[in-house]
Amino acid sequence: MATLSITQASCADDYDPNSMPVDKARAFIHQFLDPVTATVRVPIRSALGRVLAEDVLSPVDVPAHRNSAMDGWAMRFADLRTDGETTLQEAGASFAGKPFMGTMAAGQCVRIMTGGVVPEGADTVVMQERAAASGRAITFPGGQKPGQNVREAGEDLKAGSVALRRGRMVRPAELGLIASLGIGEVAVYRRLRVAFFSTGDELKPVGAALGAGDIYDSNRYTLHGMLTRLGCEVLDMGVVRDDPRALEQAFREAAAAADVVITSGGVSVGEADFVKDMMAKLGEVVFWKIAMKPGRPLAYGKIGPAHFFGLPGNPVSVMVTFYQFAREALLRLMGADPVEPVPTFQAKCTARLKKMPGRTEFQRGILTRSADGSLAVRPTGEQGSGILKSMSDANCFIILGDHTGNVEPGSLVEVQLLEGVT
Ligand code: AMP
Ligand code: MG
Repeated sequence: MATLSITQASCADDYDPNSMPVDKARAFIHQFLDPVTATVRVPIRSALGRVLAEDVLSPVDVPAHRNSAMDGWAMRFADLRTDGETTLQEAGASFAGKPFMGTMAAGQCVRIMTGGVVPEGADTVVMQERAAASGRAITFPGGQKPGQNVREAGEDLKAGSVALRRGRMVRPAELGLIASLGIGEVAVYRRLRVAFFSTGDELKPVGAALGAGDIYDSNRYTLHGMLTRLGCEVLDMGVVRDDPRALEQAFREAAAAADVVITSGGVSVGEADFVKDMMAKLGEVVFWKIAMKPGRPLAYGKIGPAHFFGLPGNPVSVMVTFYQFAREALLRLMGADPVEPVPTFQAKCTARLKKMPGRTEFQRGILTRSADGSLAVRPTGEQGSGILKSMSDANCFIILGDHTGNVEPGSLVEVQLLEGVT
């Protein structure tokens, strides 16, 4: 929990709010993120996309029994000759779910399938492809290793040990892991409530007729999508006109109803002034011009207990600033721990990119694998901050750091994928 107030922290800051580096803004926001604490117990399927609020301890050894990793035969290693073939008598079978109940005497072996319990006395499994069966006489070649193909009880997890830590986002793999422990319910944090609205006199809702100079409000839809994908409970508050009274009312309502308030538009030069005055009254908010493109204007702060992200109005800027600033912050507020930044990696850029040093650019790219197996990336075409098609066509950001200038074809650039596999 932060002890410093947001405005104190911003004054103590030695950076220019009119040219705030991306990393510095991210680190600044990071200081004030206090995660939700309330928890709910849910059946495991409902935990998908939510954050574990307690460690999940394994109530059992995993695997529960010593079992075979292969289809084959189980035997005592001591019964096998090391320097040549050995023939053992098959005494019975151990299938998954149907263990061998007898005793395995010296010179015997037991037919075993993957997952079958390794019989008392046996310590080694030879895979069936290596053995030759003639009725119940099974011949094994020399050169076997003691303990081979046997999975020990508790090898993956010991009873009582931590299977999953609090703070872990539940993905399909976690669902399966929890189920594999026989656990049917888990504690997760309550969902983070995020209220959002668009600002602008020019904005019309879809379905309405456009007047001169009007445009359809698209930001509420991209925000709805990004927030829902992240696992937030969304509260869509519509379009609010550029009118101080209407805006003040909307900010008050949003902050009272949600943990986080996100707006788009109204924070750029020329529009920010009256929002600034209003925020001075309602809470503690800092207004930055981030040294980035797109997405220069950004406001962050608190309105009462609610966190506030004032994103720029341009449709691409909204998405870029959401992914680069809000996403990580929201995950933290949701209780996720640790929160890993989306990884970046290098790919060869096949086009020339225009870029000015002194700011970070997030161009929208298409990443492909070239015939020689290397990764290649090209921009999606026109990169204007209002061109949503540039986001829609993209599968990655091409991130050009502060110091980078123009990029020549064939150079390596950093890319960050927009979609993951889980
Ligand atoms: P602003 O930051 O309010 O000056 O807006 C910057 C640009 O983004 C203007 O061209 C706006 O018309 C446009 N814009 C603002 N909000 C939205 C929205 N919700 N949907 C689509 N475009 C918007
Ligand atoms: Mg506006």
